[in-house]
Amino acid sequence: MQLSTAKKTSLELFRLKKTLNTLATKEGRGTELVSVYVPPGKQISDVLNMLRDEYGTASNIKSTTTRKNVMDAIVKVQQRLKLFKEPPGNGLVIFCGAIPQNGPGSERIETYVIMPLEPIHIYLYRCDARFHTEYLQEMLREKETYGILLIDASQATLATLQGRRLEIVRELTSGVPGKTRAGGQSARRYERLRDMRLQEYFTRVGQHANETFLPIENLKGLILGGPGPTKYDFEKGDYLNYVLKDKIIDVIDTSYVEEQGVKEIVEKAPEIMRKIRYIEEKKLMQQFLYEIGHDTGLVTYGEEDVRRALETGAVKTLLLSDGLDAARVTLKCNACGYQEQQTLKSQMLPSLGQDLSGKPCPKCKAPALGVAETQDLIDNLAELAEYTNAEVEIISGETEEGQMLKNSFGGITAILRFKTQG
Ligand SMILES: [Zn+2]
Repeated sequence: MQLSTAKKTSLELFRLKKTLNTLATKEGRGTELVSVYVPPGKQISDVLNMLRDEYGTASNIKSTTTRKNVMDAIVKVQQRLKLFKEPPGNGLVIFCGAIPQNGPGSERIETYVIMPLEPIHIYLYRCDARFHTEYLQEMLREKETYGILLIDASQATLATLQGRRLEIVRELTSGVPGKTRAGGQSARRYERLRDMRLQEYFTRVGQHANETFLPIENLKGLILGGPGPTKYDFEKGDYLNYVLKDKIIDVIDTSYVEEQGVKEIVEKAPEIMRKIRYIEEKKLMQQFLYEIGHDTGLVTYGEEDVRRALETGAVKTLLLSDGLDAARVTLKCNACGYQEQQTLKSQMLPSLGQDLSGKPCPKCKAPALGVAETQDLIDNLAELAEYTNAEVEIISGETEEGQMLKNSFGGITAILRFKTQG
């Protein structure tokens, strides 16, 4: 199911990450797992031609099993590709191959079609003992653009960081004389002069920063840095446009103010970005806790109540812990067709078939209960949320609030659009 907004939500990211992690662990018996990356704008017919050639090459593989598995996988990929007139907006990635299900000889061809969350730029065919998920996983690390502004009393550097692409946009020198004055000048006069120069310099840096960073669409944040206290003076003053000021996400001490300093920030970037997400997560949970604390009736928690609120369309934001390790299982009686749904811990799933065997159906009493469908609980609840346009936020356990969500509220809470009772 596609989300209505183009924005990457924590749910989309969570799902894609999970799928890729699963795919990354799959192994073929031989070199027989096919990965195909099709960038946007590529002609599907070109890709099909390329696959036809690969099919021809595969016919020379010596091992009978590997040959058959590779050729089968290529055919499956061709079939999937033919469903598209052209690649979707962000391109298309297909993984296909024979995966052992239960020891050797139990291989079954599995096919995965993935729509990337951002445009992919590579065109690639690989046949290997594993799926080549790393390019997509790399993209998940790529994030929006960040501005970097390093400043001390002598110079300033402006840079942008998009994903891992770093660009030094401008370097400025201050022209501000050092703190120690030359002989002969009055100390006060020197101080005043220096202050004036510093003001001019800050104004100039501010103007350049506005010109550089304001036009960037989706500028996620601005990081200030530099060796001394100058960066704080700059931050406090009115040199930056208020929009940019609002976007300052961190002020960081660096040893340098030139390119070296920018690199120091980039090294810390993943940490900074995680911090941003944690702040978002904290805010969401704090809102939830506020509503609870003030008894506003605008929240609910626990699977059953949240499910009911979702079904009535009352949920504004669904907050789910990423530590929810459970599945929604549909049980079906093969004799009378009776169905029921249950939520079970993931660890109970492997033995579920055994647990059910011999148990009577609640309706017809025949011992014919089986598992009709299993769905990850997060996916199951998220799907319900999507029907009613509720936002879904996956909350990590990295913050105190996230731990509270997991441990005190069963990992499932919702902020409501309207009161559902009372
Ligand atoms: Zn029955």
